[in-house]
Amino acid sequence: MTEHATSPTVERHAFEAEVSRLLHLMVHAVYSDKDIFLRELISNAADACEKLRYLSIAEPALAAGAEGFAITVTADAAGRRLVVADDGIGMSRDELRDNLGTIARSGTKAFLDGLEKKEDGGALIGQFGVGFYSAFMVADRVRVVSRRAGSDEAWAWESDGKGTYELTPVPLEEAPVRGTRVELALAEGMETYAEAATVERIVRAYSAHVPVPIRFAEVGR
Ligand code: ADP
Ligand code: MG
Repeated sequence: MTEHATSPTVERHAFEAEVSRLLHLMVHAVYSDKDIFLRELISNAADACEKLRYLSIAEPALAAGAEGFAITVTADAAGRRLVVADDGIGMSRDELRDNLGTIARSGTKAFLDGLEKKEDGGALIGQFGVGFYSAFMVADRVRVVSRRAGSDEAWAWESDGKGTYELTPVPLEEAPVRGTRVELALAEGMETYAEAATVERIVRAYSAHVPVPIRFAEVGR
């Protein structure tokens, strides 16, 4: 009994059927350009900062302690990991579930049909806003740790992209003070995305006009 009381409450959920379908196509379609996953994660991070910037006009306490917003991209070559963190609005448990487990967008069907007709996947991803899932083109496991601005709870969303995801409460000391950390465990063959040189090249190529400063970090340096 006590072991249950002390273990964290892990909730496992199944992806909506459309999400599973999308993920399957994402992983198995051969894109010439997998690099775009980073553009998608950075664009989400920037959107999150912009949302909080806007909300904090009416409610300054939400962004208390911030010296301005930033996105941090950390390359961990030894650990074969890449982490994209922001100090934006963050997501509550329900938002993690709704935003990263379901697809409410009407464009999705068109996206899926386009993919099956082998239209340019990169362009479609941008067009239909299914950007987050593109992380599974390079990662075999994705963990998203998030703390919604103003909340005293943090949650982790974690998945291998194969049908289910888990939601777990995270102790505040292991979570960002505010915002979201997307941790990619890179798949075999995708090691280059844990190298600072690759990551910086992609950011220069695709994210030059992002309205939030992007910082680079390397684990072990
Ligand atoms: P889009 O950005 O077009 O809405 P995505 O698949 O890229 O589609 O992201 C889905 C949703 O997940 C976003 O709309 C947002 O609500 C949420 N989300 C993703 N990344 C973040 C983040 N870093 N911070 C806050 N919310 C996020
Ligand atoms: Mg997006």
